[in-house]
Amino acid sequence: MPNNSADTLLQSFRNKVTRNMVWAGAITELLLAGAQLWLGNYMQSAIIFTAGVVFAAIAYTFRHGRIPNYWRLVFMVLLSVICVMSIRENGTIGVYWSYPLLVASFFMFRDGYAIALAAAITVFFSIAALAYMPLNDGWRIAATLSVILALGSVFVVMLGRMQKLLHQLVVTDTLTGLQNRHRVNSVLSDLINNFRRYHRAASLIMLDLDHFKLINDKYGHLFGDQMLKQLGRRLKLSLRVNDQLFRVGGEEFLIVLPETDIKEAVKVAEKIRQIVSNTPFDGKDAQVRLTVSVGVAQLRAEQTWAEWINTADTALLEAKRKGRDQVCAAEHYSAE
Ligand code: GH3
Ligand code: MG
Ligand code: MG
Repeated sequence: MPNNSADTLLQSFRNKVTRNMVWAGAITELLLAGAQLWLGNYMQSAIIFTAGVVFAAIAYTFRHGRIPNYWRLVFMVLLSVICVMSIRENGTIGVYWSYPLLVASFFMFRDGYAIALAAAITVFFSIAALAYMPLNDGWRIAATLSVILALGSVFVVMLGRMQKLLHQLVVTDTLTGLQNRHRVNSVLSDLINNFRRYHRAASLIMLDLDHFKLINDKYGHLFGDQMLKQLGRRLKLSLRVNDQLFRVGGEEFLIVLPETDIKEAVKVAEKIRQIVSNTPFDGKDAQVRLTVSVGVAQLRAEQTWAEWINTADTALLEAKRKGRDQVCAAEHYSAE
């Protein structure tokens, strides 16, 4: 099972974008330093060259990881100061750089932080423009920067919402609306860490519909889908707030029970088994009785999340082997 792969992918993409922007900043500054040297502006050239070297050092140091927020801020502050210096010395020519710099601030941080940084940069450049440029130019620069700030902020908010939605889609099973197997690994790993640190017990319930193929064969796949949806709802209603329910396969469900030892988990499993078998399921064209086989396993010391799931799976197979519609607990549990 992937480890939140969509989030990890997005995060590493963001890291790459930021790093490449710092590299681009470094290259631009070094080229500008050369240009200033050629023009005979030695002081400006030295300052810009230093900034370029600092940026290259930041990008190189964090070439394999995330550039820390502190260095991102250093990057933006240094560029802003150089840009204002340029506005003061060169007027309009310096103003041109404030626009890409404002846009860059939206890539440096996330959500509200990006907007806050962009707002600070807009205010900073607007003051510089009003102070060092003729008023007629100054207020126009402040206005256009503000427009970019507004548009960029809308974009950032939209991106944040889309990311949330995408995350939701990635972790949700579209048929039942339950969580799919995407986050199982991280949820179990958290419980394993809790167990190692605080000796908090935790258990898994793995359940699988009995002879579900026969239901599909007899009533059709769409009818089978309705059954799965109803089962998902029933399971959800039967659990406590801290329990987590996943649809991990076609007709297989996993229930994670924090703070629960095997004795308690078997009770929960038995209750679930009865909730499924005692009341028939209503489909569009028929009513059917379904049963589930259930495997239960408490986390043992030194188990990985995959081994823990395997133990529950083995108990589930045992329940199938013994004739289905029953609960089996993993054997050999000892509270090490
Ligand atoms: P057992 O008691 O041994 O679990 O028998 P079974 O028939 O449930 O097991 P098997 O693994 O042979 O078949 C599982 C069936 O579940 C096969 C497939 O038709 C059905 N199934 C899996 N996913 C879905 C789904 O999303 N919708 C529907 N309708 N059926 C599904
Ligand atoms: Mg089955
Ligand atoms: Mg199955």
